Amino acid sequence: MAPTPMIQQYLQVKSEYQDAFLFFRLGDFYEMFYDDAIKASQLLEITLTSRGGNGEDRIPMCGVPHHSAKNYIDQLIQKGHKVAVCEQVEDPKTTKGVVKREVVRLITPGTHTEGKSVDAKANNFIAAADEVKGGFGLAYLDISTGESTATYIAGNEKALLNELQALHIRELVVSEQLRLLLAEEDQQLILSVEHMEAPFEAQAALFGHCPSELEMCGKRLLAYIAATQKQSLGHIQPFTYRENTRILGIDYYSKRNLELIESIRGGDNKGTLLWLLDETVTAMGSRKLKQWLHQPLADRFAIEARQQMVEALMDRYFVRVELQQLLKEVYDLERLSGRVAFGSASGRDLAQLRNSLAKIPQLVRELEGSGHASLEQFSTGLDPCPEVCDLLSAISDNPPLSAKEGGIIRDGYNPQLDEYRDASRNGKDWIAELEQKERAKTGIRSLKIGYNRIFGYYIEISKANMHLADLERYERKQTLANAERYITPELKEKETLILTAEEKSLTLEYELFVSVREQVKEYITRIQQLASEVSALDVYISFSEVAEKYRFTKPVFNDNRKISIREGRHPVVEKMLNKQHYVPNDCELGDDGNMLLITGPNMSGKSTYMRQVALTIVLAQIGSYVPAASAELPIVDQIFTRIGAADDLVSGQSTFMVEMMESQYAITHATERSLLLFDEIGRGTSTYDGMALAQSMIEYIHEHIGANTLFSTHYHELTALEETLSNLSNVHVSAMEQSGKVVFLHKVKRGPADKSYGVHVAELANLPEGILRRARELLLSFEADNRKTQQQAEQLSFFDERDTVSEEVLQSIKDASVSRMTPLEALQMINDLQEKI
Ligand code: ADP
Repeated sequence: MAPTPMIQQYLQVKSEYQDAFLFFRLGDFYEMFYDDAIKASQLLEITLTSRGGNGEDRIPMCGVPHHSAKNYIDQLIQKGHKVAVCEQVEDPKTTKGVVKREVVRLITPGTHTEGKSVDAKANNFIAAADEVKGGFGLAYLDISTGESTATYIAGNEKALLNELQALHIRELVVSEQLRLLLAEEDQQLILSVEHMEAPFEAQAALFGHCPSELEMCGKRLLAYIAATQKQSLGHIQPFTYRENTRILGIDYYSKRNLELIESIRGGDNKGTLLWLLDETVTAMGSRKLKQWLHQPLADRFAIEARQQMVEALMDRYFVRVELQQLLKEVYDLERLSGRVAFGSASGRDLAQLRNSLAKIPQLVRELEGSGHASLEQFSTGLDPCPEVCDLLSAISDNPPLSAKEGGIIRDGYNPQLDEYRDASRNGKDWIAELEQKERAKTGIRSLKIGYNRIFGYYIEISKANMHLADLERYERKQTLANAERYITPELKEKETLILTAEEKSLTLEYELFVSVREQVKEYITRIQQLASEVSALDVYISFSEVAEKYRFTKPVFNDNRKISIREGRHPVVEKMLNKQHYVPNDCELGDDGNMLLITGPNMSGKSTYMRQVALTIVLAQIGSYVPAASAELPIVDQIFTRIGAADDLVSGQSTFMVEMMESQYAITHATERSLLLFDEIGRGTSTYDGMALAQSMIEYIHEHIGANTLFSTHYHELTALEETLSNLSNVHVSAMEQSGKVVFLHKVKRGPADKSYGVHVAELANLPEGILRRARELLLSFEADNRKTQQQAEQLSFFDERDTVSEEVLQSIKDASVSRMTPLEALQMINDLQEKI
């Protein structure tokens, strides 16, 4: 059976949106058909039905009511799907045949700006990438806030995917060729293709300082957004060109290992650096902090500028408290301006924007009056956007969410609107009076005047009082179970007046509202600029609160590689320890000794010590104070970590393979200005194998990279390297044995650890006594074996030596010209040879 015209239309539209669920508007529902229906009914747990034909011909179908569609769309997006919304673009009443329908918007995980799946405290970026020489160009932006960035990623697809993962980018716009390449590497990433046959017209101003290759990327991205959103992109900010050299590079795994933003265990962010640092009071501030943690700076000037703000705010406690109070009343300016640009801002959004802007002059006054140069200087960058405030004065104090119910524009703003409103209000007063009059006339106390959409205004009298009704004037309109409803000619007349005035007022009000919204659009760039400054202020305040609360100090930077931390702490472990005392430790690294080999029993604090050094660097380079009594630090270009525990079970790679891959990545990318953390390298393989790898890595870093390196190990043998590698020194985390039990002191001291405490730790963990006894025995015999092996190794080298000596001796005998020697010379030679052997 041939499909109906409507289904033909459906198939036509669907063919253009193969990779999306097509929400096809039919009256009050969005319907899905065929495979879409089968899949959606499962994903959304809605009923699958069918229509048309018989048996096999029936078309699978399911639908959702249009008023609750948002919710369902949100669910699909959250699960990583796209949704094409197809609307009726003609009035069905005035058309013959099938109503014209068009896709008005393609919603994708990267372009979704509303709903539960959008986290107010996180950016939702969509990106585009192109292959360029030696790497990739990457442009990304957050549609809800308009922030746009362009940058280069050096390296292969893995480096690109790594960056995408770090930025939490779920959707990437690429060429078909690149799509095929990346689809193999990453199944989670949503790859969307934008063909760009026609050159995309974007304002040149959007790409101010970007190299032209990155401009291409930006255009690919904008073309995709324009094609899917079919709405104004007026709020997109000019692309900021991010030079990777100015950012402290931390790869995704290291960010996770160090638990900067996400915890290794997944779930909420408890236990992360973000968790400790986030004392911001606005959602914008929280997002800004996350961005800073994702991209700490590597530019001393920029870092020190942030430090100065933090210092000033620490200095001015009361100013800070005032500022924070004001910030609490500032709504999410970035997202609000995003909605204005999109044309989706409600009256309530505009009121929030107005109320937020109203706080800016107060913020400025507070900063100006602070008596601190840095704060005064900062205030000059806060633009209160007076023109926008003027425009928004049109909006009433408490506008409703809906744009069409009225009550958005305040009284006195527009004379025409006031007139309509008066007419309708007067009419309503007149009706209230009429009710009183009718009650008096008829003597029915319960008589009332009501309104409904079908019958308009009516007089209602209960059955019990019917005999009192003035049926000469009243015309019966509707009978209910225990009441009758009437109208009168004068009531009808007034009704027309009220309703026309009301309708006119609603129409005019909507027009005024849209016009205000359109005019505000002109100022979006300024609002965004303001939002960026305000959110930074929120983070500075947060930094100073944290510094005070946890006794952080201001780090000082040098231009060499020296790290000198006095009484440093791991701020998160310290906070987790609760009342227990955290043992602070120093760290000294620099030109004459930039590698530390850390030994010590399990659980003594090796890994914590290494992490605390890395976190101190990260904190310093985002502009924060650091957890130490004092700190002198270099500007680090990259941090690499190879830290155990985060066994990568998810991707199915063996722990050891992951360990080797991360080491490879670190070793090939590190420079002498990097910081390397290697925790227990080689643990995943057999002892000799592991020890050999660990040693050769240390030697390689020592000879060829020269980066500041912390290397922890349980191979006690490696501590001998201190004698041969001039830049390496041994430290150990001390523990003490007390009546046969180990007590951790967590104190880092010079020199190697003297003993392995593994068995004692097992004892602490209450392993059965039998096992412990046997382990002690074995330990003794292993140690004895080890001594034997060492002796053998020494002998081996002795024989080696002897071999070269005997060759020398043989050679001299061969070379000797006996015929020309005196007997004395011959004796002398034998004597020399004897000494050599
Ligand atoms: P290792 O790497 O040597 O096995 P960890 O660094 O994982 O040991 O530390 C083990 C535990 O010891 C940590 O979870 C923490 O509770 C505690 N710890 C580590 N360092 C300190 C310290 N400096 N002060 C107090 N407790 C510490």
